Amino acid sequence: MPAQIIDGKAVAARMTAEVATNAAAFQHSTGIVPHLAAVLVGDDPASAVYVRNKQRACEKAGLKSSLHRLPIDTTEAQLLDLVEDLNADSTVHGILVQLPLPKHIREQVILDAVIANKDVDCFHPHNVGLLVQGRPRFLPCTPAGCQRLLAEYNISTAGAHAVVIGRSEIVGKPMAMLLVQRGAVADATVTICHSRTKDLAAIVRQADIVIAAIGKARFVTADMIKPGAVVIDVGINRDGDKLVGDVDFDAVSQVASAITPVPGGVGPMTIATLLRNTLTAAQLSAG
Ligand code: NDP
Repeated sequence: MPAQIIDGKAVAARMTAEVATNAAAFQHSTGIVPHLAAVLVGDDPASAVYVRNKQRACEKAGLKSSLHRLPIDTTEAQLLDLVEDLNADSTVHGILVQLPLPKHIREQVILDAVIANKDVDCFHPHNVGLLVQGRPRFLPCTPAGCQRLLAEYNISTAGAHAVVIGRSEIVGKPMAMLLVQRGAVADATVTICHSRTKDLAAIVRQADIVIAAIGKARFVTADMIKPGAVVIDVGINRDGDKLVGDVDFDAVSQVASAITPVPGGVGPMTIATLLRNTLTAAQLSAG
């Protein structure tokens, strides 16, 4: 039987509506409109699309968004100045620096400069530390989006073997950290794989839940999937004018019990979580 399709678009729409309701109530009681400031350096078309989508989502949820667009030859010092201004601006609650930054700017330096209470991407070491300790201030957007999909589709994670392919700071590591925590939609036995992993296919075949975050089109093939496993595809890759995931969707959906499509799976959930984090940041600012 073909796999159930996990509809991230529909779940994200519900989440956005929840944020809208909560943001309206927050505004009613405090007079504060949660405000996300996005910073985009250079003219990478994909980054511009991502930022535009995030801004549109803010509008849908009744949040304010502003865009700070800087030329590609912006220096690290200039970008740091902007981040400092946004840190100090009490009308800005969340700061999003769209990655990747131009090569001459050290991403770590910039991301570390965003103050922890406005770090809606959950990259700051303080926020990552809180996450590791199981008392998060913000949830990392893409991993938390994946976790919410598991929750919405009643996928049992307690005691399940979850294999995360990819160990990036943005997806792989925080994904593993969420699933290994004690509690709901967690309590999994987690394996993290990466480019140095030996016999990756054999490890992935043991998984009850596979999270693919590699950045290689259709990397995960049907023979790597245990029949009945749940597959969450984080990847976004271009194949001509088509977007495809890290999973060979057509073949894997014949073996898995549930699978996310690309597009329409994890992507919208990332944005919905960002909105929720922006509301959280505004609530923090209001004490
Ligand atoms: P990175 O390039 O930062 O990380 C990729 C990871 O995959 C690395 O840990 C790398 O291992 C591992 N990897 C690469 N090749 C192999 C291989 N042959 N076998 C096993 N592991 C391998 O990517 P990101 O985590 O930032 O993104 C991953 C994908 O998810 C991309 O397609 C990206 O576009 C997408 N993405 C989607 C989002 C969404 O909202 N849907 C949000 C963020 C990302 P090593 O560390 O050893 O190099």
